Amino acid sequence: METHIIIIGSGLGGLTCGYIMAKNGYKVTVLEKNVQLGGCLQTFARRGVKFETGVHYIGSMEKGQLLHHFFKYLNLLPDVKLRQLNCEAYDLISIGGERFPFANGIENFTEKLAQYFPAEKDNLRRYWQAIREVVESSPLHSLRTTGEPVILNPNHVKQSYDHFLESVTGDEQLRLVLAGNLPLYAGERGKTPMYISAFINDFYNRSACRIVGGGETVAFSLVKSIRAMGGNVLPSAEVVKINCNDKQAVSVSLKNGETIDGDYFISNMHPARMVEIVESNILRKSYRDRIVHLNNTVSNFTVYIAFKKDSVPYFNSNFYHYDTPADVWRGKNYEQASYPCSFLYMHLCSSENQQFADAAVLISYMNFEDVSQWAGTKVGRRGADYENFKKETAEKLLDLLEKQIPDTQQNIEYYYTSSPLTYLDYTGTERGSMYGVLPDCNESIHSLVSQRTRIPNLFQTGQNVNSHGILGVIIGSIITCGELLGVNNIVEQIKNTD
Ligand SMILES: Cc1cc2nc3c(=O)[nH]c(=O)nc-3n(C[C@H](O)[C@H](O)[C@H](O)COP(=O)(O)OP(=O)(O)OC[C@H]3O[C@@H](n4cnc5c(N)ncnc54)[C@H](O)[C@@H]3O)c2cc1C
Repeated sequence: METHIIIIGSGLGGLTCGYIMAKNGYKVTVLEKNVQLGGCLQTFARRGVKFETGVHYIGSMEKGQLLHHFFKYLNLLPDVKLRQLNCEAYDLISIGGERFPFANGIENFTEKLAQYFPAEKDNLRRYWQAIREVVESSPLHSLRTTGEPVILNPNHVKQSYDHFLESVTGDEQLRLVLAGNLPLYAGERGKTPMYISAFINDFYNRSACRIVGGGETVAFSLVKSIRAMGGNVLPSAEVVKINCNDKQAVSVSLKNGETIDGDYFISNMHPARMVEIVESNILRKSYRDRIVHLNNTVSNFTVYIAFKKDSVPYFNSNFYHYDTPADVWRGKNYEQASYPCSFLYMHLCSSENQQFADAAVLISYMNFEDVSQWAGTKVGRRGADYENFKKETAEKLLDLLEKQIPDTQQNIEYYYTSSPLTYLDYTGTERGSMYGVLPDCNESIHSLVSQRTRIPNLFQTGQNVNSHGILGVIIGSIITCGELLGVNNIVEQIKNTD
């Protein structure tokens, strides 16, 4: 009889685990609470225009690069079309009126930034050397099999990114520029470990692209493959309880009253939500307390913009703006009086050769507290004061964008917005957090969520295990499935995929 593995949640983590386990002969059932599958990979369409909610750009997708290996293994290459970002400036960092490009390739990146910081060429090279050391020391980032299940060097876990930058250069302006893409991981001064920045910067520096049609194409492809291998992926199937006997988990109960038995269980839920639905003394109170009190990354407010037809030329870079140098590391500690003081602006890619943008996203940090008065209300029925709050916030953000990129406002056909409450409702992420649990170099053990739980057949996956983003979540999924299949075995499978 086939071994049945039940996966709770169809985010990238749940679907990647579903794919790996189905490929290795397990009977897979993925249960998703929402009507739409994919979690943060979801897009939504309004008046014929598609908007992405997460996964706006990805990296390392050239042949031979890491994500390309993973996509090949996950059979994503036939379904996922890409458009390369401007390799001379995949990210454009705007700080207090000055703009700095991030170019692909270490040498190109160094040369381009050295035009603004001529005395810093050697330091930039040292910066990249240290980053490459981190990446190469991680077996999964360099696709090496290893005798030890060591994933990270402790030294890379305990140093914060800002301290690392101080060790690399004395030029404060350059340090701010090198932190300019912090919203990609909601980095916090003195907390975000250097390795998180290293993996992400290396990932995008090698090559950077947008997914044509958005991240949902990844979700659709994985769902199609899981089903083709005999697995089930069920929308509108909210798990409300993980049932255990005195030794292990035995089944899940759904909101509709159904119970599904399984041999193994993987939760793609936020860990704090997962512990709430496990009724078992095997999960100790101390574990539950730790998980529930973990700090999470900040949430966001997003304006989804639809442009008038053929009015705005497609912008092939990601634009990170900060009003003043002090705003780069401000993150969640913004002041209401000067909000918003930073944003990330990106055009969405609907075809491989588009000349004009159909849509864009304008994202700014937002704390849950700013919308907590409407917590508990339902989507579309939160009241007029909430709608006013969103309108005012959107207008402030659009004004800020207009100052940086003039003539944008006049070309907007319409826009929609989302707040921390939207993310809370759609993905169940704690307080609408963008990237889940905040890794903290001061509490490197305490702030980590293991793929294992004390219930021997219940595992966790997704952005809270290992790291977030397309790379972090896929690597986390390999670690989770490795509990049953062996990490080295999966790495060998990836390397041997034709
Ligand atoms: C604004 C934003 C922009 C981003 N941009 C990028 C980017 O450009 N590039 C990049 O690589 N990454 C990006 N990310 C990060 C990336 O989207 C996430 O890290 C990743 O998609 C998370 O996947 P996941 O599987 O951990 O969780 P999720 O996508 O959150 O999936 C969890 C799933 O579990 C389901 N679920 C929860 N509870 C239950 C239950 N009880 N029963 C059944 N199902 C349940 C949820 O509905 C959801 O579908 C971005 C994220 C955000 C928020």
